[in-house]
Amino acid sequence: MIPRSRVPLYDHSWQWHLRNAFRTAGDLIDALGLPPDTVAVDSEFPLLATRPFVARMEQGNPRDPLLLQILPQARESDEVAGYTGDPLDERSHAEGAGIIHKYHGRVLLVTTGACAVNCRYCFRRHFPYDEARLTTRQWDFMLDYIRRDSAIREVILSGGDPLIMTDDQLSELVHGLESLDQLTHLRIHTRLPVVLPQRVTSGLLELFAGSRLKVIVVIHTNHSRELDDQVASGLGRLAAAGALLLNQSVLLKDVNNNADALCELSWQLSMAGVVPYYLHMLDKVAGAAHFEVSRTGALRLIDEVRDRMPGYLVPRLVSEIPGHPAKQEIR
Ligand code: SF4
Repeated sequence: MIPRSRVPLYDHSWQWHLRNAFRTAGDLIDALGLPPDTVAVDSEFPLLATRPFVARMEQGNPRDPLLLQILPQARESDEVAGYTGDPLDERSHAEGAGIIHKYHGRVLLVTTGACAVNCRYCFRRHFPYDEARLTTRQWDFMLDYIRRDSAIREVILSGGDPLIMTDDQLSELVHGLESLDQLTHLRIHTRLPVVLPQRVTSGLLELFAGSRLKVIVVIHTNHSRELDDQVASGLGRLAAAGALLLNQSVLLKDVNNNADALCELSWQLSMAGVVPYYLHMLDKVAGAAHFEVSRTGALRLIDEVRDRMPGYLVPRLVSEIPGHPAKQEIR
């Protein structure tokens, strides 16, 4: 059960929440009052979910769209043709020191293997973080790599979740990047402002507000119920610190594969000052095949969303295909 405490859930520090996140299916099932026959399994990619995120799930509902994103299921061990450990062929673009260089003009840094939630559809769920993430000892190598390619304008911090780094660690990294005159943009892909809004600390806001780089924060939200007042407040403070806020969702069967869910997500994102930018087709990572929505189904859905929503609230339906120079828009 979620321990009763005189301290309200939202008053704990973000580090407290990381230490006290749910890590077993049994605890989560008890906390949510799910039927005893709710099936969850042990997995090499273990269950991990923060309490603020779990608090937004519906009690007693084993089909809750937030729960389905994080509850390990037996069908994850099914072998399905086309589903692999490295669906985006990232290993062939790894340059060492956590650098993945796939696209012209920008590089991605795998800064950590840690997250605050483990999303069952994560395309990096089999990623070899121990050997392929950036460590502080490799920062000089990483900075030299960027310096050697003057076309690189933007650095993308990814992971894992880069906001798992402390404010001090992040600040040191950002200041190192700011020392490269060629860089103008810093993009951060993170779920933390949503699953753990306490992470939006004054130190983080000061770092973003004081950076000479244009900061873009891409939150990864799949369902409108992930957004509550606390999340919206944190997002508002990020925007006030000068960050451009974008969202990218993954189209997930039983989570958001209906027009009502997608439209409501766009409305709520807009209310929180976030542009609903991308709707991604599922990357075919082993263990996630049960989330697949067909291309035909996805096209039908986005057409329905387009019929119901103003254009600026219709995300671009995209897919990432290894070897292509950019994401592919699906039409
Ligand atoms: S990297 Fe992102 S999608 Fe993958 S488990 Fe972490 S938060 Fe979820």
